[in-house]
Amino acid sequence: MNDLLVNAAERAGHYLETIGERGVAPTANALADLDRFNEPLQDRPCDPQTVLATLDEIGSPATMGVAGPRFFGFVIGGSLPVALAANWLAGAWDQNAGLYATSPVAARLEEVALGWLLEALGLPPESGAGFVTGATMANFTALAAARHAILQKVGWDVEANGLFGAPLITVIVGEEAHTTLFKALGMLGLGRNRVVKVPVDSQGRMLAEKIPAISGPTIICVQGGNVNTGAFDPVEQICEKAHAAGAWVHVDGAFGLWAAVSPGRAHLVAGVEKADSWATDAHKWLNVPYDSGLAFCRDREALRSAMSVSAAYLPEGQRREPSNFTPELSRRARGVEVWAVLRALGREGLAELIERNCQAATRFAVGLKEAGYEILNEVVLNQVLVKFGDAETTLRVIKVIQEDGTCWAGGTVWQGHTAMRISVSSWATTESDVECSLEAILKIASMLKQPLV
Ligand SMILES: *Cc1c(COP(=O)(O)O)cnc(C)c1O
Repeated sequence: MNDLLVNAAERAGHYLETIGERGVAPTANALADLDRFNEPLQDRPCDPQTVLATLDEIGSPATMGVAGPRFFGFVIGGSLPVALAANWLAGAWDQNAGLYATSPVAARLEEVALGWLLEALGLPPESGAGFVTGATMANFTALAAARHAILQKVGWDVEANGLFGAPLITVIVGEEAHTTLFKALGMLGLGRNRVVKVPVDSQGRMLAEKIPAISGPTIICVQGGNVNTGAFDPVEQICEKAHAAGAWVHVDGAFGLWAAVSPGRAHLVAGVEKADSWATDAHKWLNVPYDSGLAFCRDREALRSAMSVSAAYLPEGQRREPSNFTPELSRRARGVEVWAVLRALGREGLAELIERNCQAATRFAVGLKEAGYEILNEVVLNQVLVKFGDAETTLRVIKVIQEDGTCWAGGTVWQGHTAMRISVSSWATTESDVECSLEAILKIASMLKQPLV
């Protein structure tokens, strides 16, 4: 057994040590090689060392270099070495983190990490939280608590009776809300389309003055960090208006919420602690492995009521029971990695990670602008939107950048403009990674410049 695990660690170490030398996207050959996985299920067992070797030989070259320093797609971040190491150890522990009884260590680490997270993010210390798979499920979980609380206020028990015959709920979102927020609303029976959409400004920020008059059970979904621009809805203003009318304010802060830990960026989330619930990802900017999201809720009991396994709302025992705060019962101990990163970085290390990524984004924007390309967003955080000409040219540039392999960024459409989106969210990205990526991007863009007519 030990040989097998040491072999896995050596292969993983080699993979990570050489990831900066290969192209970020897999080559066509590596992708074609994936066909070798297509073999019939064998009758006879196979030696685990051979299984691992096959996985490494065929699988590793076909990975996207997300763990490397020059992947700038989708705001998805890498994994800090300490997080990966904690993940391996926790994997060996094979704990079922659903119950205190099945894993006292996982339950205690979640409690400790939760306290640290609330402090670092500046959220109310009394908040409850669930350790879930990602921001989609964090939105789902927090909005389930919201649904519980606002219906309870009008005398309706939604966990017991569902939404059949329930008082109507108004859901208000910004026009630029993330697509997964609508999915969460759909899963909760609140409807993907049955929402009031509030117009936004040029950065995708909700126009607070355009929020309609609020009456009856209402949830307002605010965004902290637009996936294209990085911009924040005016959360303080929205909270004031919402709370005056008894509405619940939920914040989708999948990556943007982490701005709170950096003194230079915290102003972007000013007032965020006035909301009622928050969703964020740990696998994005906290740089832990997939999958890891967090759902926070000021009203701990609302979250517990929505997520308890037992409908009888048993009084809580001495210990926080993890499964009372998440949709899942059995699950892996993802709080271990969150704890490990916070313990390793501390407040200063965390702030430095966020700030360094934001400065890299600014450097990209400055370099691209100096070369004459249009930056579509105000670069306030870690997101940069750049246009290389018309849509066709921009798409061509993106395709060649991806094929070139020095770095990887994806395309997006921002308010009618086709753009390339650069997102800097990995601990591994250094200044020299930014410079060599910028150089590659500029070289390709100038090579493909539209001929002047
Ligand atoms: C990434 C993201 C999500 C979805 O997060 P997952 O972890 O992929 O489920 C939701 N909202 C925003 C703003 C995001 O950036």
